Amino acid sequence: MPTEMASHIVGYPRMGPKRELKFALESFWDGKSSAEDLQKVSADLRSSIWKQMTDAGIKHIPSNTFSYYDQVLDTTALLGAVPPRYGWNGGEIGFDTYFSMARGNASVPAMEMTNHFIVPELGPDVNFSYASHKAVEEYKEAKALGVDTVPVLVGPVSYLLLSKPAKGVEKTFSLLSLLPKILLVYKEVVSELKAAGASWIQFDEPTLVLDLESDKLQAFTDAYSELESTLSGLNVLIETYFADVPAAAFKILTSLKGVNAYGFDLVRGTKTLDLIKSEFPKGKYLFAGLVDGRNIWANDLSASLSTLLTLEGIVGKGIQLFVRADKLVVSTSTSLLHTAVDLVNETKLDQEIKSWLAFAAQKIVEVNALAKALAGHKDEAFFSANAAALASRKSSPRVTNEAVQKAAAALKDSDHRRATNVSARLDAQQKKLNLPILPTTTIGSFPQTIELRRVRREYKAKKISEEEYVKAIKEEINKVVKLQEELDIDVLVHGEPERNDMVEYFGEQLSGFAFTANGWVQSYGSRCVKPPIIYGDVSRPKPMTVFWSSAAQSMTARPMKGMLTGPVTILNWSFVRNDQPRFETTYQIALAIKDEVEDLEKAGISVIQIDEAALREGLPLRKSEHAFYLDWAVHSFRITNSGVQDTTQIHTHMCYSNFNDIIHSIIDMDADVITIENSRSDEKLLSVFREGVKYGAGIGPGVYDIHSPRIPSTDEIADRINKMLAVLETNILWVNPDCGLKTRKYTEVKPALSNMVAAAKLLRTQL
Ligand code: GLN
Ligand code: ZN
Repeated sequence: MPTEMASHIVGYPRMGPKRELKFALESFWDGKSSAEDLQKVSADLRSSIWKQMTDAGIKHIPSNTFSYYDQVLDTTALLGAVPPRYGWNGGEIGFDTYFSMARGNASVPAMEMTNHFIVPELGPDVNFSYASHKAVEEYKEAKALGVDTVPVLVGPVSYLLLSKPAKGVEKTFSLLSLLPKILLVYKEVVSELKAAGASWIQFDEPTLVLDLESDKLQAFTDAYSELESTLSGLNVLIETYFADVPAAAFKILTSLKGVNAYGFDLVRGTKTLDLIKSEFPKGKYLFAGLVDGRNIWANDLSASLSTLLTLEGIVGKGIQLFVRADKLVVSTSTSLLHTAVDLVNETKLDQEIKSWLAFAAQKIVEVNALAKALAGHKDEAFFSANAAALASRKSSPRVTNEAVQKAAAALKDSDHRRATNVSARLDAQQKKLNLPILPTTTIGSFPQTIELRRVRREYKAKKISEEEYVKAIKEEINKVVKLQEELDIDVLVHGEPERNDMVEYFGEQLSGFAFTANGWVQSYGSRCVKPPIIYGDVSRPKPMTVFWSSAAQSMTARPMKGMLTGPVTILNWSFVRNDQPRFETTYQIALAIKDEVEDLEKAGISVIQIDEAALREGLPLRKSEHAFYLDWAVHSFRITNSGVQDTTQIHTHMCYSNFNDIIHSIIDMDADVITIENSRSDEKLLSVFREGVKYGAGIGPGVYDIHSPRIPSTDEIADRINKMLAVLETNILWVNPDCGLKTRKYTEVKPALSNMVAAAKLLRTQL
């Protein structure tokens, strides 16, 4: 019999369809607008999202998935877990303290950021207190608008597992020992939500998909047993996402006290389906995450519906028919935070490609259409339009390029390596480049001024001619080159003024990629990326960077780095085809980049940086899958430069910390020089060398944080370099910032780089 339809959204993008939040945040940070302005923009975004979901018919609408920075930092605020150096004195945490933790302030650097969130730092003497009432405020705010939402909290165990021990207790402190203390605060917030009228609550516990040891799994049992009485009277949903829930975790999860609903990612976690089929507990809610929160492809509605019908039989087993179907709730696989916001704003996108896609706003409609169909109200027209779009994607000639398919397939079981080993290559390169010890360089981009963005925008809109555009960009390059010469940097960059984004720039010139006008996704804080959509086989019709790199090299006698984005990063920062394995797509991109590397070399560029900023980001969550990923990822990188001469110096660059577990893969990439983001992770990177890993190639762990406006002093940088020299050979160490400078201002970059060069020179005299 038809029943009530049940639909749920795990979370929703917070930036707004036109990045409204980004602009509001940045204007507030720049002191150009008030806290009230920022709050107003944010409240408007929230209310329009709630209204959109209400209008679409979604039953379980989330709240507290909005954030001014990220939800983990919000949880740090909720718990009052502010590291003492930020000088917070208790009370409700305001913007000052919150943004100081995120971005640093004039006197204190920011907290570490990895994996798109600010990592909590916890030690034995944190005084937890209920210090941010945001969850309750958002719940009430929605309620006042007539929407009864499901408040979402980062679950207590995942919060601790995503934290790191504070300085000084790294080796000795057990984060999970804090569980009883933070649960006291969780109890307060849950009680307040209950008092405010909430009937559901969602805890995001994504760490349940990891391969957790038994003590960590036990923490889930402990935590929810402890919360049970506080949670009583509420429907409690535990959301898991990003991968399969391992069998052991599934058992623990489905027997948690006080919990009566479980959410699973059934897109990336297809094996979980088997567990559900064999041992889903009776009478509980199953939130089936069938609509992909991390990609932009339209759902295969008929396939999803048949999965739902199977699940319906299971969830309903042994239960009266009339209470059956609403225990099965159609949901998204993850928060929609990871996908673009609204396809409606893509007026320029090719119509055929557009028909293959669904962004967050469209996914809400898909979720609801599935819930309706499940309840016996199938919208036939909607389903058949979807089937037609899927069929057109399958058969479209724009998707397939046989020559590319063949070339990429041939790479699979082969190996690609440069002919000579790295130390011989470094000697050959040094003869040619003649660099001082502790050579200085930067990562690629220089500040992107408003003027520069205007020039690019106007050229794109055909408001200025190609000639005017080239002239303006060359002037910018020249300015950047002169500045670097004045600063006395050794290996120069052209500053990337022609690039909007390091992936988009290449995608636009490769075939098989499509672009959106507003398909932004939050990366961290106010930073957004607009991932290209890889819809077809990838090839390079013509050189992409040779023109600008040669122009830049002609402006200076110093070596000018060619600047490319590596295949793995292009893959990891794009929306990827879901109709072939990821490695196949990556090999195709690698072949295209290889052509570019060789063209740069022919044009006389002797240092070429191939950024693999996001190599680590693609690492599967489950350890058992790491080796396979790293193998094809590293191979893809080597393919790009396996054909260059010994004298051509290949650099690579990586963002974020935590390389220690993949250091052997990094070495296996066999780059001549690697620059690595480092300064925000307290030299964690260096410990791997301290512990004896031999690194023979050039290495430049970043000497200062570029995510913060703070200007590091010469002494501070010299101090950092000295720490590096303690574990790395003098002749392989490079001196460079953490990452590109595009988000900084010249007033920050000039003094920072000048101090950096001064520090390198100071140390050269002492060695
Ligand atoms: N070359 C790029 C830049 O400097 C690298 C950016 C990155 O690693 N995210 O902007
Ligand atoms: Zn970087």
